[in-house]
Formats: sequence, C-alpha cells, structure tokens
Amino acid sequence: MADVEEVDLYEVLSISKGASKAEIKKAYHKAALAHHPDKVAESERAEAEVRFKAASQAYEILFDDDKRHLYDTHGMAAFDPSRGGGMGEGPDINDIFAQMFGGMGFGDGMPGMGGMPGMGGMGGMPGGRRQPRKGQNVEREYEVSLEELYKGKTTRFTNTKQVVCEKCKGSGGKEGAKAHQCSQCNGQGQRAVLRQVGPGLVTQETVPCGTCSGTGEIIPEKNRCKRCKGKKVVDGKNVVELYIPRGAREGERIVIANEADQKPDQEPGDVVFVITESPHDTFERAGADLKADLHITLAEALTGFNRVVLKHLDGRGVQLNVKQPEGKVLRPGQILKVPGEGMPMKRSDAKGDLYLVVEIEFPEDGWLKDDAAIKKVRDVLPKRDEDEEKPEEVEEVEFEWDADPEDFGAGSGDPRAGGGWEDDEEEEGGPQCATQ
Ligand SMILES: [Zn+2]
Ligand SMILES: [Zn+2]
Repeated sequence: MADVEEVDLYEVLSISKGASKAEIKKAYHKAALAHHPDKVAESERAEAEVRFKAASQAYEILFDDDKRHLYDTHGMAAFDPSRGGGMGEGPDINDIFAQMFGGMGFGDGMPGMGGMPGMGGMGGMPGGRRQPRKGQNVEREYEVSLEELYKGKTTRFTNTKQVVCEKCKGSGGKEGAKAHQCSQCNGQGQRAVLRQVGPGLVTQETVPCGTCSGTGEIIPEKNRCKRCKGKKVVDGKNVVELYIPRGAREGERIVIANEADQKPDQEPGDVVFVITESPHDTFERAGADLKADLHITLAEALTGFNRVVLKHLDGRGVQLNVKQPEGKVLRPGQILKVPGEGMPMKRSDAKGDLYLVVEIEFPEDGWLKDDAAIKKVRDVLPKRDEDEEKPEEVEEVEFEWDADPEDFGAGSGDPRAGGGWEDDEEEEGGPQCATQ
C-alpha cells in the first residue's frame, strides 16, 4: 500500500463528526472562498490551491450519504488510497470553481452544488490508479420449477469467492514490508493495449496490468505474505441463503449484497441470481395467470362430470363439477376460467387466475361395434334437420382421410393458399393485416 497520510475530512472543513448536510455545505463554501487561489497573494497560491482541492474532495465525500458512510466506517481506505492524500493533480481549479458557482454569485443558495459535474467519484480524477468503489457484481442463473415459484423457496449454497487475506490484512506483504510502485504500469494498475478488431483496424483498450494484478504496486518476493503470496486475497467460501419469494417471475433478480469477490480497499460486489423458470408439463404461465389443458371425454363434454381434473402446483387436486341434465355442453377449444387459482402475487394474498382450455378426447376409430350400438347413440343425440331441399342431381364422391391443410392451393402463388385457411377472421381484412 502506498504511504498515504490519512486526511481527516472533517478537519479539512473544520466541522464536527456529526455535522449536518447544511453545515457541511456552509463550511465548504467558506473554505472554497477562503482558499480560492485568485483571492490570495501570489506566494500563497500553491498552498491555497491544495487546500481548495482538499475542501472540494472533503465536500464531495461528506455531502454524499453513501460516501460519507463509507468514509466514517473505513476512512480514506474506502476510496482510492493513492488519491487520498495526494491532492497534487486534478482538474483545473478554475473549471471546478466555474462548475461550482456557475456564475450565480456567491450567495447562500448556490444551485447546482450537489451535482459537481466532472468530479464524480475520487477514482474518476486523472493521475492515480483507478479502483471502483464497489467491486464487480457476479451474475448467476438459477433455474426454479413452477412448483417452487408457487410456494416460494429458501435454499443454501456454498459461495466461493476471493476474500481479503487475514494474515496480512490485505497488504500482501509481511509486517512493515514496503511496496514499490509497479514499473510496468507506473503504478496505474492498468495498461493501454492495442487490439485488432478488423482488417487494418485497431482500437485502444485499457486492461488490468498483469505484472501487479491491477494493484499498481509490487512487493519484493522475500517480503510477500506467506499465506496469500502477495496477492492480498485468498480463495474462500461461505454459506449463503437464497430466498425466492412465492410468485417470483422469470428474469427476476435476487441480490445477495456484498458476496462477490473481496479486494482490499473496496466494497465487494453483489452476487445476483437471475431466475429462470423451467418449463412445466401441465401449466403455462403468463404473469400471475396459469393455463392448462382440460382433458375430458366426449361423453363428459356431453353429459357432464364431477371429478378432479388436474393436480395443482401445491399438490391439491382441482375438482370441477359440470352439472347435467340441461346444463352447458363443453366444446373443443372452449376456455374455462377459475378465478384465484393462478400464481400467488408477491407481498399479497391475491392470486392470478387459472385458464382451462377444453380438449375433447373423441372415441377411437371403430368404437361402435354393431348396428345396435349405432342406433343407441343416434337415438340419444340430437337429430339432423332434414327439411333442406335436395338438388335435382346428386353424386356420391370419394374422399381421403386426414388431408394436409398445407396442400390447399399449394404451388399456386395465391396468397390464400396453405395453412392460412384456419385464420377465418383475417380473411375480411385482407393479407396486409395478417401480422397482428
Ligand atoms: Zn496475505
Ligand atoms: Zn502494474
């Protein structure tokens, strides 16, 4: 770790640890005005510039609740340590001032103070190695059955990750060992490389320095920590609980905060689970609604039934009572809606609906064995209307079973050919409306 004198940001602004945001703002304005290089004598200018920048940095961290919390808990180590004390470089001071005060005068209101464009994050400033405040998130897919999504699920898993070496507390060196700036990247922790992206086409990319593993510094081999061999981190694992709320959906992200790889001086990223819903044999899902086929026999379609028609996702049998006589006949493709039997909705007792699509199992070919059976069926079913006038000339024709709808008009180039004949509704609007 670079030798950095720890700055006390509260001291920089001359405020107490418990200062309110208003107090921080006020103190900053005061410091910024007092140390503005144009307002001091030539001989004091260099020092004023440093103080001015220090005040800007202190304000940037303390005025932001998240950054202030990080600073209060971890000190400047929570930020880029190579930036912490070194106020030497940075954006032009006049730019900062112009952005801060935006020509609005030095009144108390000072709009635009919160944003401070161009100063987003300490690491964003040039001149030091850049380490994001928070490490990278790890995304994992997690496949869950519809049953599990219906009931909710808690599961434990072993999370393997890099953890900061305990022996050296993440310094990578033995006690008192000094690190040298990496000569390969000049302490930047990263290098610019050229990458070919096409014939005769190269782009410049920034990659972590391999020599120092992106840390910007190197500890001589004999001084390295024995446990992590100077890498500052070691392989570790812990058990983490993953809670999938009932009613969770495909694509939903479940965040387990700060469980990704650890690095010294950095808040670890999150482990993020992205839910995938495995396909189900019985149910289809859309939002909180479920859909399933209702398989019934022809006799049931005509005469009714009272039985369990399917097993729900929690194992319950769903029973339907279709009453006859004089009740309704079920027809192929008809849809029955069962309110409140869909998926649970999150943070509520409500559920979606269950849609049942009627599928009628007709009897097998040749099921009528003799004339008596035929007569029996004919006698109970409604008769055909025989009133129609017959044409004078009648011809009995041959036919084939099970024709292919694709053969209809095949090869004719007629837009009405092929499978299109199933979409009765579209015919009126013409083919230009076919894509709806
Ligand atoms: Zn170590
Ligand atoms: Zn390096």
